[in-house]
Amino acid sequence: MIRIDDVIEKVEQNRPNSNIDLIRRAYLFSALHHKGQTRASGEPYLVHPLAVAKILADLRLDETSVATGLLHDVVEDTLVDLDTIRSYFGDEITSLVDGLTKIAQISNLSKEKQQAENVRKMVLAMVTDVRVVLIKLADRLHNMRTMQFLKPEKRARIAQETLDIYAPIAHRLGMGKIRGELEDLSFQNLYPAEYERLSKEVESRRSELEAALTRITATIETRLKENDVPYIEVQGRVKRLYSLWKKLKKQKIVIEQVYDLIAARIITENERKYCYLALSVIHDTWTPVPERFKDWIAIPRDNLYQSLHTSVIGDGGQPFEVQIRTQDMHQIAEEGVAAHWKYKEKRLGSAEDDENLEELRRTVEKLLLPLVETNNENPDSEDFIESLKLDLFPKDVYAFTPMGKVIQLPRGATPLDFAYAIHSEVGDTCTGAKINSRIVPLKTELQNGDVVEIMTTSSSRPSRDWLNYVVTSKARNRIRHFITEQQRSESIDLGRKLLEKEADRFRLSPKKLIGNDDEMKRIANEYGLGRPEDLLASIGYGKTLPRNVLAKYLGPEKFAELDPDKRKETRLETGMRAVKKFIGLGEDAIVVKGVDNLLTTRARCCNPIRGEEIIGYISLGKGIVVHNKRCKNVKQLMVNRERIVEVEWAKIEKEEIQSVRLLVTTENRTGMLAGITNAIAEIKTGIRDASASVSRDDQGLIEVTVEVFDKRHLDRVISSVEGVPGVLAVERMNAT
Ligand code: MN
Repeated sequence: MIRIDDVIEKVEQNRPNSNIDLIRRAYLFSALHHKGQTRASGEPYLVHPLAVAKILADLRLDETSVATGLLHDVVEDTLVDLDTIRSYFGDEITSLVDGLTKIAQISNLSKEKQQAENVRKMVLAMVTDVRVVLIKLADRLHNMRTMQFLKPEKRARIAQETLDIYAPIAHRLGMGKIRGELEDLSFQNLYPAEYERLSKEVESRRSELEAALTRITATIETRLKENDVPYIEVQGRVKRLYSLWKKLKKQKIVIEQVYDLIAARIITENERKYCYLALSVIHDTWTPVPERFKDWIAIPRDNLYQSLHTSVIGDGGQPFEVQIRTQDMHQIAEEGVAAHWKYKEKRLGSAEDDENLEELRRTVEKLLLPLVETNNENPDSEDFIESLKLDLFPKDVYAFTPMGKVIQLPRGATPLDFAYAIHSEVGDTCTGAKINSRIVPLKTELQNGDVVEIMTTSSSRPSRDWLNYVVTSKARNRIRHFITEQQRSESIDLGRKLLEKEADRFRLSPKKLIGNDDEMKRIANEYGLGRPEDLLASIGYGKTLPRNVLAKYLGPEKFAELDPDKRKETRLETGMRAVKKFIGLGEDAIVVKGVDNLLTTRARCCNPIRGEEIIGYISLGKGIVVHNKRCKNVKQLMVNRERIVEVEWAKIEKEEIQSVRLLVTTENRTGMLAGITNAIAEIKTGIRDASASVSRDDQGLIEVTVEVFDKRHLDRVISSVEGVPGVLAVERMNAT
């Protein structure tokens, strides 16, 4: 078992000026709070944070990382909260612990398989400091090393996650050693039988392989010396099992055909020319295998790995690989980004340190370059922490469904985008959303790691306002499509009504005209339109006037004869008009239902309200615009008499009272709900239900369903709620 003194000794050895007191305090705090907890092995829990701290110390990370290693499970597994951590250890450690706790939660949530890519990105997207990733890798490494005490299913799940998420991250960060160990441990726990078989196969050859390696490394050393190549060390290694297994499977070959089953590694002194010298010695000693030479020094791999690789045929015909690199390159190959920590030796603030930090920051960015959108507007950051800040996916945000499926969306996406990303149908019928179990306005911006639940009602439909809240083209296109469809069907209805009215005035049977498909089609074609509905839609939009349609239907002579503007009213018609007026019906009026109707809109100039006398004007592309009869603009509009239609308000019936859900954002204080319901009751408006909660940014969220009979009524309700002290915003949600 590792003791705290082992950790401290290592830190002092690697970084003589470290703050050892911080590490001791973190140790005592962790020991205190994990007290009484045990691991699956039965050992005290503290063994785990200690082992993690030791791995971090071995990687030569700073005291902050080591202390965080000791504290990393405290928030996740004990009653300690982040504020307590902050009061003891300050902001820096708190934010590292917070990052680790969040990653732990993601891993608990993501139960769905086949989304490794997204989870991996999500983990990285949530990280703002690369040290969080390094501590997480150390944590995972120790857990993998001690998995034998867990049940097989749990082992397999963790191993799969390691293979999918953490080993690739270690690879990306150039940490070859940790990656190799994570992969082998995963392989062992995920495919125990295959691991066993392959391991036996390699073991049965091990003594033979090792003897070969000894001969090879001895020969190499002799030859290097003979040729005066300055080298530090020549190592030999047998290929790791997971990478061997993958190669056998991928290339469908047997173990004898693997060129790099054994490899020698030459570590030269720190000048790259020694690598090329060593290479020439190797090729002079053994025959190289054609096309097996790779120069990763001249062209480093994405993760900054540098080395020369060549395969040669050994004395007994056994092929083997030789890797050649300098000491610095070797350290980077083994430890990757962690190797760069050696730069942070001195106290912060010195000019030299700034330079080193700058270099470190550049390295981290370069390592992660393939994953990073360029975001370099801060090239000369001043302090160390800044230099470690990452924003790997500044354009993406990752959120979960309640079932743990990861949905990737652009930054700024809202629950509506999320709903449409799940399915168009879910988007179309969305009535509200919960983020992390709290009801939120539909325009709320999603954050990484949010769990989003979409509420739907099958009868609900998209609203035009939604276009203001969505950022994905999928959502936008669906909403637009829906509005266009809806508008078209409304314009067809309106066009039919207008044509019927006009036919009536000409004393023609509307049914005979509109029902005559051939005739309607002929007229449609004259306007360059395809089908009768297109003609009706065009009338509804105000592009085609019903009077002109009748002119085409009747021909000039008949039209002139029947034109009501030129003919005298019959006595019957005069009588009918008198009767209609007497019983309060408008003549030939189009009924205006409400103000939200797409094809009947209230004129902005006079904004008529229910009860006022109104008149309709067929406006090009907008359908009927309803004006107050006394509006000063009406006189001008009268010039186009053929565009004027009579309209009247639809009767209000009991059933037409609508329930409207309002979402009220308030300051977080007591009595808000009472204040709001009072304000609504005061203007004699029914409340169907009301509930209150607190948002994550500590604002009050009150949901209230009110019963109103028109928009004006609703406006009054909204403005009286807005008048309640403490109310910040009132938003209308979809009617239920
Ligand atoms: Mn842990």
